[in-house]
Amino acid sequence: MSNDSGQRSLRDLPSVDALQRTDLGREIAEAAGEDHSAQLSRSAIADLRRRLSSGEAGNTGKAELISEAVNVLRDLWEQEDATRLRRVINATGVIIHTNLGRAPLSEDARRAVSENTGYCNLEYDLNLGKRGPRAPRSEMLITELTGAEAALVVNNCAAAAFFVLTVFAAGRRVAISRGELVEIGGDFRVPDVLSQSGATLHEVGTTNRTRLSDYETAIDDGAAVILRVHPSNYRIIGFTASPSLGELASLAHDRGVLLYEDIGSGALIELAPLGLADEPTVADSIRSGVDLVTFSGDKLLGGPQAGIIAGRRDLIDRLRKHPLYRALRIDKLMNAALEATLEAYRRNAESEIPVIAMLGLGRNSLLERAERIAGEIAAMTSSSLNVQILDGESAVGGGAAPGAKLETKLLALSHGTLSAQDLEISLRKGDPPVITRIENSLVLIDLRTVPPEDEPELLERIRSLAAQP
Ligand SMILES: *Cc1c(COP(=O)(O)O)cnc(C)c1O
Repeated sequence: MSNDSGQRSLRDLPSVDALQRTDLGREIAEAAGEDHSAQLSRSAIADLRRRLSSGEAGNTGKAELISEAVNVLRDLWEQEDATRLRRVINATGVIIHTNLGRAPLSEDARRAVSENTGYCNLEYDLNLGKRGPRAPRSEMLITELTGAEAALVVNNCAAAAFFVLTVFAAGRRVAISRGELVEIGGDFRVPDVLSQSGATLHEVGTTNRTRLSDYETAIDDGAAVILRVHPSNYRIIGFTASPSLGELASLAHDRGVLLYEDIGSGALIELAPLGLADEPTVADSIRSGVDLVTFSGDKLLGGPQAGIIAGRRDLIDRLRKHPLYRALRIDKLMNAALEATLEAYRRNAESEIPVIAMLGLGRNSLLERAERIAGEIAAMTSSSLNVQILDGESAVGGGAAPGAKLETKLLALSHGTLSAQDLEISLRKGDPPVITRIENSLVLIDLRTVPPEDEPELLERIRSLAAQP
């Protein structure tokens, strides 16, 4: 390309106005307003100008330049659109997928959310006709389901742990086993949460073995709180030991110190029958005598994002009256979902809760579904899309039950001309986005995390892959 033609191309660049008058320009203005649409058009033209100047884009005529500008604008618009919060199909087999919204809500919980978006009795007692507490029914259900004297609900479990430590451990020594100084994921690290709450960390025992006498010594040295953390996302196996929760509770109560457990996942029912052998239940903790326990609403409990604090009434009352509660309390929509989820547990209808239902799916039912879909794909004529069914494992996710083995059947896709990456991107960028993973150059689809009612849409999306040459 000569310099001269480069200059001419620059002169031929469309104006922002011209780009705004294209069909796409009008569509964007309609959806996002004139100002934003003009801003995107300016970015598109600037990008094209840069590419022409650098010789990256060749010399073309006026008409080609406007259609090129429209292409750039479409890319920008689509990239921006992909940031919109939207429903996706989770075909990864990771049940509590932290990046995909953790626990999907039950039908009842979804209905409860949509019914309470307007005015509702969030803090209004309909029996008395005056102001009432927030989330009293969730609290009542939690006490019923766990045997705790009282409960309080906040925004998430990290907030719950921070809240408990700030109120009961600030300025005091907190004894914790070296095996429990864990990072739960992201920025939640037990030592950091402790120091942020104003408590002093008092490490006891070793990474793999901690004895009751280690805690006793810590109390002799001034520890006023014993903190037990369920390590959630990893396990120490082999030569290990730690006192039982019951032993810790006896010690704490004899010596007048507080026993607080951050149990994390918050299983409300025994999950061993579903393959999760070492997930403690909240009721176990309460029965063992912990003073307070905290857990998440959207991990194994299968509800909305929430942090639940359960335990002694006098301690819960102190938390409720503390100014931090105002900053951390749950909002009305999440409380609506939490209530509905807890109601399902109370009437022993846990299978209505998607997380519990997905954990319980057997290999045979997954195989049946995979075979049906594979059959449909195979029947797509003149397609270069290949499908096979492989053995695999799903994951609990959410930093829970790292050792659990959930055997599954995977649909494995490959294509005559498209790479696994191409297929993955195409599935991810469609509507609705389908999130998969790639292993050994195959795109893997685990139906465990795809609700049966989403199957037709999933198949439709796969069909669109098959339509590619
Ligand atoms: C997940 C987890 C948390 C954080 O809970 P969020 O609901 O993500 O705020 C805290 N403690 C433990 C032990 C956990 O497993």
